[in-house]
Amino acid sequence: MRLVLLGTGGGPRPSSARHPSSQVVQVGARTIVVDCGNGVAQQMVRAGIDPRDITDVLLTHHHIDHSADLAVLPMISWVNGRTDPVVVAGPPPIVTSFGSLLDAHEEDLRRRVAATGRPDFRQMVRTRELAHGDTLESGDDVVITAAQVNHPPFDCALAYRIDSDEGSVVVSGDTTPCASLVELARGADVLVHEVVHPAAIEQYERGTNAATIGHHLRNNHTMVGDVAAVAQAAGVGTLVLSHLVPHTGVTDAEWLTAVGDGFDGRVLVGADLMELCISTPGSGDRRTVGVSARA
Ligand SMILES: [Zn+2]
Repeated sequence: MRLVLLGTGGGPRPSSARHPSSQVVQVGARTIVVDCGNGVAQQMVRAGIDPRDITDVLLTHHHIDHSADLAVLPMISWVNGRTDPVVVAGPPPIVTSFGSLLDAHEEDLRRRVAATGRPDFRQMVRTRELAHGDTLESGDDVVITAAQVNHPPFDCALAYRIDSDEGSVVVSGDTTPCASLVELARGADVLVHEVVHPAAIEQYERGTNAATIGHHLRNNHTMVGDVAAVAQAAGVGTLVLSHLVPHTGVTDAEWLTAVGDGFDGRVLVGADLMELCISTPGSGDRRTVGVSARA
């Protein structure tokens, strides 16, 4: 099982340091993308993954730094030759919002089909709304489980767990620390969790909408000092910090210091194109997680 962090920046503010939220898990014949910040197809190519290989696209919630390329990624896959079905799943109203995104691209879709004879893109994509406890299964040994987390102002934001015989990966999406995420992540090999550093509050408090942004970061996200308790309660093997706010100005050492020592497992500060390979253990041993980072 292979996990690649495609974008580790939190929030919609563009930067040269980190791309917006996205990660991809490859296991068996499945290429499962969780969140589609803008530029996700290019990041997949940089990671050595062909966007035509996508089988599942999962959205955690409808913030644009997670959803911008929700339709663009499967469309690029289709334009470049994919014809097999792709699942696009996430919280309501994903069916109607995805349909609206396709409506915006209708002129391209219609003329491209007419010009190239490609099958109808709308028939290729299977959209599905998910709620807490829902699972996606495709007849192989891979099971995707959704859990509702706490990310106001959304009625439903989801975290995902991807399980197979090769390992287990959980992606928190955006959330405050919450019991449902702990339960979802119980015993997982890898937990990718969003974090906000106090330095971000200080940065934003110099801005014009300081009070609103500061309140949002403190009350709708997870401060980095609180994430160790989540990972420890869930008993995960490796905690990966991602959706990092701020993108710059905090060193990896400072992120790790801010996590503290409340988690017995391994902690990694996520970076764009960091790759984690989960190895199947010998009998009775915990799986190992190899890490490599691209420049
Ligand atoms: Zn969000």
